[in-house]
Amino acid sequence: MLLPVYKRMPLCFVEGKGAWLTDDQGDTYLDFVSGIAVNALGHAHPIMIEAIAEQAQKLFHISNLYYAENEKKITKLLIDNTAFDHVFYTNSGAEAVELAIKIAKKHGNSTQNGKNEIIYMENSFHGRTNGALSITGQEKYQKPFEPLLPNVKMIPFNDVDALKVAVSEKTCAVILEPIQGESGIRQVSDAFVKTARQLTEENGAFLIFDEIQCGMGRTGTLFMYEQLGVTPDIITIAKALGGGFPIGAVMTKDAASEVLTYGDHGSTYGGNPLACAVAYAVSNELIHGGVIKQVTSLGAYAQEQLKIVLSKYSAFKEIRGCGLLLGIAFDAKLIDAATIVNQAIKEKLLLVSAGDNVIRFFPPLNVTTDEIDEAIKRLDLALSSLLT
Ligand SMILES: *Cc1c(COP(=O)(O)O)cnc(C)c1O
Repeated sequence: MLLPVYKRMPLCFVEGKGAWLTDDQGDTYLDFVSGIAVNALGHAHPIMIEAIAEQAQKLFHISNLYYAENEKKITKLLIDNTAFDHVFYTNSGAEAVELAIKIAKKHGNSTQNGKNEIIYMENSFHGRTNGALSITGQEKYQKPFEPLLPNVKMIPFNDVDALKVAVSEKTCAVILEPIQGESGIRQVSDAFVKTARQLTEENGAFLIFDEIQCGMGRTGTLFMYEQLGVTPDIITIAKALGGGFPIGAVMTKDAASEVLTYGDHGSTYGGNPLACAVAYAVSNELIHGGVIKQVTSLGAYAQEQLKIVLSKYSAFKEIRGCGLLLGIAFDAKLIDAATIVNQAIKEKLLLVSAGDNVIRFFPPLNVTTDEIDEAIKRLDLALSSLLT
């Protein structure tokens, strides 16, 4: 038996192709969950199959005692296409966040008076490990596992005044998601992110962006920071980086790249040749295969069509997010997001809810407009049977 930490749907999938999944009954579903923003190229993409098959015949794992060819390739690709100059590979998002915390703390400890306070956001989500949970601003996740890390301080997201009060010479890092994903698709405001950049700079603290959900092209650019006009010192990446194969990363620039030295961190599996082969194939297709280029227009199309179809329901509130990181907010007094997810399954459409009574609309990034139309049609059918 599995530990009962997930409330699973009574569905068991056996195969997939693109945006489609087939279950063990032979039924086909349109997948607008994408493994929670992971399957950027959809299921069973030929480029990923080829990368895995080819690498599997050569090398799976060698440990980080040596260099690996694919690690060099993915590293060059990421550095060439971002503002960052160094990378460390992990196996998951939470592990990337743990390393970002360690870099900020070591840097803080090395300063003259020692700084070790991390400022984090209400309604944030950074992962389930002890450190990442300590800066995940949701009581339901934190409470059962107290005591968590000391010297962390939560402030309301996008509250510029609270940020100004919170950041001090004791601050070693401010961490935020440019678009909060898990808690309901909320974007950081211009004023907040610019103030965060300015205050961290003034106080010798690092600004950390968690782009695990919003990164790797889902918002229409490789990373969201590009659209905000603010470059963080550290970025955490995972989910779509491997397109379904487990891999995450921390990228750093300038001073943040100078903090760690031999022995400060490690991972047995992190950046192994198989994971790096897949990550390279996926990232290369996203960046150079024209996938990310289409995300903005596909997202605009989806938003427009969703608004046309959903505006007839008084329970529909708004569409949040950008690119294909879209959230549809519903009035909690009229309908529960979980009910919509369950009804959509009956229409053979897979969706996942987020906090604040939001349905995430997360197709693969190479989705077609026909598939977007089909998903909206099925969502409309689900809603019409619930709301009329
Ligand atoms: C999913 C997610 C994580 C955690 O990633 P895991 O791979 O599940 O550990 C952290 N931060 C954000 C923003 C996420 O969406």
